[in-house]
Amino acid sequence: MPEKIRLSNVDDPELRAALRALTSVDRLMRMKPAQDLERVYGRTPTLKALRAALTDARAALVDGLKPDTTGLALINDARRRLRLRFVPTLQPTLNATGIVIHPHLGRAVLSEAAEKAIVEAASHYITLEYDLNEGRRASRLRHAEALLKEITGAEAALIVNNNAAAGLLALSALAKGREVIVSRGQLVEVSGGFNIPRLMRQCRAQLVEVGATNRTRIGDYERGITRQTAALMRVHNTNFRLVGAAEAAPLEQMARLAHGHGLWCFDDLGSGALLDTAALGLVHEPTVQESIAAEADLTWFSGDKLLGGPQCGILVGRSELIDKLRRHPLIRALRADKLTIAALTATLDHYRRGEANTHIPIWRIMSRRVPDLQRTVERWLLILKARVPDLNADITPTRSTVNGGVLMSETLPSVALAVQVNEPDSLLMRLRRLELPIIARIEEDKVLFDPRTVFEHQEQALIDGICAALVASDM
Ligand SMILES: *Cc1c(COP(=O)(O)O)cnc(C)c1O
Repeated sequence: MPEKIRLSNVDDPELRAALRALTSVDRLMRMKPAQDLERVYGRTPTLKALRAALTDARAALVDGLKPDTTGLALINDARRRLRLRFVPTLQPTLNATGIVIHPHLGRAVLSEAAEKAIVEAASHYITLEYDLNEGRRASRLRHAEALLKEITGAEAALIVNNNAAAGLLALSALAKGREVIVSRGQLVEVSGGFNIPRLMRQCRAQLVEVGATNRTRIGDYERGITRQTAALMRVHNTNFRLVGAAEAAPLEQMARLAHGHGLWCFDDLGSGALLDTAALGLVHEPTVQESIAAEADLTWFSGDKLLGGPQCGILVGRSELIDKLRRHPLIRALRADKLTIAALTATLDHYRRGEANTHIPIWRIMSRRVPDLQRTVERWLLILKARVPDLNADITPTRSTVNGGVLMSETLPSVALAVQVNEPDSLLMRLRRLELPIIARIEEDKVLFDPRTVFEHQEQALIDGICAALVASDM
């Protein structure tokens, strides 16, 4: 804060006159442009911004500068301050990275039906826990959980906040004070320090590591069983891959072994695909249905990865186990809220109708083929060249990443618009500063725009944004 300036301490008569002539906050507030600001930003923030503009003008005068001290100039200054202060931190972006499930851009984008379900659930009283026939309370598990049973064939299901919460609940409720056997090849760290050994400790379950990093056979699990064992657990490697001499005991064998000893078999599936990714030319991702067919007793996965729904964790499996989870005190802290339930129910409805491929955005995005992407980029290039004559750009083959933030993620063939500029990093920055920020990436010193993750309704904004960012840059 600049020190308060006292007129009595100012010697220079000219400066004294200038300071005395400076307008006041009250006078500024009576001007129409200030009243407009008040309507947009509220009275207190507007007063604060005007006061700050006046303080700075006063300090500039004292410093011997000649600031514009007209009312309009001061209000414009206040407007700049208010704009900066009110820039939302959470805003839509245009994802031109080609990363389908982008961990920093909110993972899966929801379907139109899921969006509508969220809006309706948010703005109405809804039958979350109310039976219209009986006119009384009903279970909130009738919605998404009922659909999950229908789609996957599971006996029971439960929705919590995310997959980490699913693991926390399952292990706390079913393995506290007991042993859980996990292959040394599956002690996965997801991100942010969330890993299986820490989760086990948090749940007061004893982790028993068996096998070797690259190889764990069913006999290794068998030798790990003691009187303290509660379960055998598989953790799916969603973010790394063992190549070369690698082997993991199949889930069926683990389940059979577990059941033969009166134990449970758990499966942390991670991504939780309900459809076969091999149909898109990707590596086959184990599906929820396969986990159930292998007779895992409890399987959990994320709702906002390959399922294409809202952030949540989904547990499916035997009724006996799901019932224990429902009765556990943690469930009250971990259960999903009504907006999540609404969005997930609408997302699952696409699977029930057999329209997931065409209606769920991430599946539609992953299904896009190169010729279709090529046509899109050609269209962009044509329009851009007409608008920016000295544009240095071409079309280049590239690969879109399915799971962002994951080094060994699966990729899909794509083509991208490649723009060459002197300073690609500063172009990326200008793209990020647009009203609808564009997130792109650099490959071989070119700025790449992958059409796979750009929605049709965003194309105009993309072209306008690229033009604006290029014009402001040194090409
Ligand atoms: C992604 C993932 C998690 C964490 O899921 P969140 O939904 O982010 O909590 C846990 N385990 C595995 C195997 C995962 O892939």
